[in-house]
Amino acid sequence: MHFCIQFHDWFYQETVASVDPAGAAARRRKPRDQRRPPSAPTTPSTPQRLSTEQLAQALRSHVLSPKRMWTLGYPLEIEPNSTKAVVYINPPPRPRPMTTWDVNAPEFVPGSQGDSGRGSLGSTPRSDSDEEADAVEHLCVRCDKMFRMTRDGEYVKEETCLYHWGRVSSDSRYACCKSMLGSRGCSVARSHVWSGTRPGMNGPLEGYVRARSPRGGVYAIDTEMCYTTAGLELASIAVIAADGRLVYRSLVKPSSPVVDHNTRFSGIRPRDLARATKTLRDVQNDILGFVGTDTILIGHALENDLRALKLLHSAVVDTCALYPHARGFPMRRSLRALSEELLGRTVQRGSNGHSPLEDARAAMDLVLLKVQQEQANRVHSISYQLPILQPYDPLVSSA
Ligand SMILES: [Zn+2]
Ligand SMILES: [Zn+2]
Repeated sequence: MHFCIQFHDWFYQETVASVDPAGAAARRRKPRDQRRPPSAPTTPSTPQRLSTEQLAQALRSHVLSPKRMWTLGYPLEIEPNSTKAVVYINPPPRPRPMTTWDVNAPEFVPGSQGDSGRGSLGSTPRSDSDEEADAVEHLCVRCDKMFRMTRDGEYVKEETCLYHWGRVSSDSRYACCKSMLGSRGCSVARSHVWSGTRPGMNGPLEGYVRARSPRGGVYAIDTEMCYTTAGLELASIAVIAADGRLVYRSLVKPSSPVVDHNTRFSGIRPRDLARATKTLRDVQNDILGFVGTDTILIGHALENDLRALKLLHSAVVDTCALYPHARGFPMRRSLRALSEELLGRTVQRGSNGHSPLEDARAAMDLVLLKVQQEQANRVHSISYQLPILQPYDPLVSSA
């Protein structure tokens, strides 16, 4: 906690001076100073203050390559300047005792042109009835059961979803109820839900947008999603600038009927969406009002946010890649674990679900921390080398 305030100040002082004139800076400095605990560690010995442009420059080496983006599940354009996207989804890394992934199964067959991202898992008729003949199979992301829906988003069969909401920990027990991996679910929901994508190739996906104007800047984005009949859809978004300033925040009306608000994780309650007025298209337009082709977007597992936003963007820095899991990809460290360990900050602990604002700030601060550490290391290595280099430097020798 202490350290994160320290390095946030380190960036903030510069941007306040350059972006925010004296009055606002003074107003902001006061609460920040009040927050600072008396036991806070001293500022690193060689803090180098950065402007947004300098930060963008420092992040260049961390921007994901297209190949890496593809592996991580980012939406990529189908051809230069296209707004149609393709997404490759790796089979999920979490333990799935009820399901084995078969690369020859229908769900691995690339989607057809008319699929439009609905993520059908094949459309072989299994019944003589018209409705079932039109049905597609989806994997429930909560209980791992397969279920069927018509292409219009109607469930073929009413079936409750018995699932565990907790992750499986290293002792093969669910965090929610401590029962063993593969045991009967401890929670019940009215229907199964699916992600909107399937393992393997997804696409071509319609409705994507991309920045066109040559604008820079560095922003962190976080979104929250609800389960609809079309899979996970955008329900809430927050964008913050590198100085921690909230740039944009909105609730979003999903385009398809909501099946489950996913409140435990999304923080979205039915009454929130009832007062949402913006559509995905509105939010896309808003975002492209300040995100340009050179803007660096930051996030934790940002591919999920860009897929929900249907935003094609190539300059991305992902905290999952910045702080990889010790066991390597596809294992990932959670934002909660990274925040607690590196920022000394608790996020995603409340019973009201994630806050996109809190999560975006955590992702931004993790990136600032990395840049600051790299700068400190560089200064340290230069000062460490100086005594060795000096005797060999003709200018020093002749002095
Ligand atoms: Zn459970
Ligand atoms: Zn289910």
